[in-house]
Amino acid sequence: MPTELDDIRAAFEHQISLFGPRVFEERGTAEQKEHVEVIDATIETTDPVEEELAVDDKIEEVESTPAEAAPEAAPEAALEAATDTSEADVYARIAQLIPGDSPMVGMRTLDEVSAWVASTELIELDATRLNPVFGVGNPEADLMVIGEAPGADEDKKGEPFVGRAGQLLTKILEAIGFPRETVYIANILKSRPPGNRDPLPEEIRAHIPILHKQISLIRPKVILCVGRTSGTSLLGIQSSLKDMRGTFHDYHGIPVMVTYHPAALLRNPNWKRPTWEDVQILRAKYDELTA
Ligand code: URA
Repeated sequence: MPTELDDIRAAFEHQISLFGPRVFEERGTAEQKEHVEVIDATIETTDPVEEELAVDDKIEEVESTPAEAAPEAAPEAALEAATDTSEADVYARIAQLIPGDSPMVGMRTLDEVSAWVASTELIELDATRLNPVFGVGNPEADLMVIGEAPGADEDKKGEPFVGRAGQLLTKILEAIGFPRETVYIANILKSRPPGNRDPLPEEIRAHIPILHKQISLIRPKVILCVGRTSGTSLLGIQSSLKDMRGTFHDYHGIPVMVTYHPAALLRNPNWKRPTWEDVQILRAKYDELTA
């Protein structure tokens, strides 16, 4: 019979296999941490198998300088003020982000919205996709995870995050105590961009109301955005991933953590450590808000 100690040891070993042994090191000073990251960032992976990942890791996007100066992260006071409003106000405010002439305004269930998305062409990608990738998971989840856009595997299956990056996302969620089926997973775009290119601004503008609608119906307490495009599109800001991660942002009263995209972690394992820090902060916020 496995003892409690065996269980704890197994959990530690699982997390070390995901995030590396340094996960359990004491956190250094900011300066030391920066040092580690700078050294880590110089290590490159050139595994050709990884080059063929169905999902584009958007490494350049993660590292690139944003077109506009990065805004300050939401000040604590502003976030507290925003989260002070009643829950009903929060989701009602989000529902108001949907254009008044959209058929989604009158919809009351995710199934209705999903059927409308499947039968509607809002952008050219909606005509070229194999399947719409609406979202998957618990329709009443307290945690929503938001990616960028479907890749080839997701396009084939009609489900988000089912390729290699998706498997890593599932493991990361499990490592912080969320079995995949307990959260809701969606993307900014519901249709696959050809060759996994970055979503265009007009494509994001056309599809983001679907995500606002999903959030207003699911009513999550916390949101995790993976990748820069996910974070900037949901929050409506211009920023780099490095500037966004590690702290909460305010989405109309819901705290949002932005961290590295799992496909980026497959290319650069050194980003696993900051990701691990981010998801632990996220878990703590989740526990606080659902206690
Ligand atoms: N990358 C994403 O951002 N979303 C998916 O669904 C798959 C890969």
